[in-house]
Amino acid sequence: MQFVDAKTRNERLSKDMGVFLAGCGLVRATRAIGRLRYDVNGFLIFVVPQGYRTEEYEAAALAIIRVKRDDWVEKEIRIRLANPPRKKGVVHRPISIFDLSGVDILIAKDIASVPRDVCFAATAVLYVEPPTTQHINAARRLLGNSPFSDDVAAMLAKCPQNVQLAAVLKPTFTKDNIHEIDDFDRIETNGPSLFDLPGYEEVKPWARDLVKGVSRWRQRTLEWKLTRAGVLVSGLPGTGKTLFASALATALGMRLVSTTVGAWQATGTLDDMLAAMRKTFESVNDGKGAVLFIDEIDAIGTRLTRPSGHHGDHYWQVVVTDFLTLLSSLGEGVIIVAATNYPDWIDPAILRAGRIDEHFTLSLPNKLTRAEILSHHAGGVLPLESLVDIAEDLDGKAGADLERLVRDALRTARSEDRELELRDLEAQLPEKLRYSPEQCLRLAVHESGHALAALALGHATGATIEIKETFDPSLDAFIGGTTTYDLIPDYFPTATSLRNRIAVSLAGMAAEIAVFGDPSIGSGGEIGSDVERATAIARRMVGSYGLGKTPVFMGTVKELANKPLPERLEVEVSQMLAEENERMLSMMTEERERVLALAADIVTHGTVKIERGGLADAA
Ligand code: ADP
Repeated sequence: MQFVDAKTRNERLSKDMGVFLAGCGLVRATRAIGRLRYDVNGFLIFVVPQGYRTEEYEAAALAIIRVKRDDWVEKEIRIRLANPPRKKGVVHRPISIFDLSGVDILIAKDIASVPRDVCFAATAVLYVEPPTTQHINAARRLLGNSPFSDDVAAMLAKCPQNVQLAAVLKPTFTKDNIHEIDDFDRIETNGPSLFDLPGYEEVKPWARDLVKGVSRWRQRTLEWKLTRAGVLVSGLPGTGKTLFASALATALGMRLVSTTVGAWQATGTLDDMLAAMRKTFESVNDGKGAVLFIDEIDAIGTRLTRPSGHHGDHYWQVVVTDFLTLLSSLGEGVIIVAATNYPDWIDPAILRAGRIDEHFTLSLPNKLTRAEILSHHAGGVLPLESLVDIAEDLDGKAGADLERLVRDALRTARSEDRELELRDLEAQLPEKLRYSPEQCLRLAVHESGHALAALALGHATGATIEIKETFDPSLDAFIGGTTTYDLIPDYFPTATSLRNRIAVSLAGMAAEIAVFGDPSIGSGGEIGSDVERATAIARRMVGSYGLGKTPVFMGTVKELANKPLPERLEVEVSQMLAEENERMLSMMTEERERVLALAADIVTHGTVKIERGGLADAA
């Protein structure tokens, strides 16, 4: 292959400014292989700047090589895209080593999309830089427009391709136009901005910083790499993870691209999945900025903990590696929002610094936030105070449940041809059942056990106990009673203080046995339940802190959560739990009268606070 002389090249390139700027980049890139006047044996791969379209580079490549007049028909063979766009109804074929015949130049969007054997066969892989200030001003002059000042040209050199071209084409360009440029890629959407939504308190400060960073990036006063670009949001279904991504995009004035790992996977084979994944990333890498929302990110598999010798291991290995490559070659302005219900299942490499390195857990909304969410969906027509009363009865409900409730209430109002009223919402409240007197006493006895043990064992100086009169049978788990402690700080726990924590957790069930002779299921069943908490502490003591019979380390606290200990250590954990249970059973049996008196007090008042010194008084 031969290149044309500078004069012919300029003649050909100067017909289209987009192609001209691309051509300048190509010529500059060829410096790496010496002067253009020499013949090139074999073929070259040009990798276009990130976020730039390949079309202009394809046309520019054709303009800089020597072609005989009748060769032009062969252009589709000599200049090719490494990864041509998919066409409907045509099998997608990225370039392979077997179809290089006649090729002079391959244009690639990113080198990862070119097979390794093809890279190897190339004479050289040349990375094209974005247009320089000189290129931009040369384009201005070609059009007969006056060149930009140095600072404007330097600013434009950092802008996306569409902005550069728009500025070059504008006949008169003044300093005032610069601010218009900043807003080119801002997108106005109808959805709410994150900052107008209730809740999300844990994420809003991060998002505020991001909005500031993006605005400075748009004005080219901050480099993209200094802006944090990836966040993981986890939480139960309906806690607003999807809404967060779209509301963040609105706040940033960016496009939202949503996908799920499942959608990539559903494309078929491993190759199809990788292609779908790349296509998604390519679609956001245009330099204009976008929020890329990836739901079910946990489904991407874990290389470290999953390998099992199964066929599937290789699959996930390849997928995770490819995913990491795509993450690290993300274009400017792309913010990844990954969502999951299971944050522990995610490959740690994905969460390492520089990738998705912020993590927020969206929790179920508290009473006030529930009221605000109701108000938001009701369009602000009902007073917030009255909604707080309704929200009181919606403990354990997620944002999605609240939205559904308002929607149903609105439907009723509309069917009666009137505005929404408070009674419409009240009519939608879940039907609550009352605890029987015996059940109330049991709840009170259980909480009394916790509270008295906490005070007796030096775990807390005071405890406030509350029991509920009603429960919502539609919830998977309902909390009948709670004890909140005025904890004695224990920043440097000892074996004794940890054992006491186990004991306090088990004391509720022990009190039930001491009083009724028969415990209920209320101490277990859930993460965060009494028995789970006690077991977790015992396992950490034995398997991680070295506080069992033999000081041995089987993994970090986090790792222990998901893996069984060797049998003899699990036996030791059980023994520890049994001992603490025995200790609490004798304490509660001895203190049975006191437990009962406190429980009776709680049943009467609903809420009771006891303090360490006043233990006897409380009883
Ligand atoms: P997830 O993705 O966590 O399953 P979604 O984002 O799909 O949850 O939330 C479902 C619906 O719940 C949202 O469309 C919205 O109507 C409502 N919602 C959740 N959180 C909030 C909130 N903080 N403010 C207003 N509405 C919310």
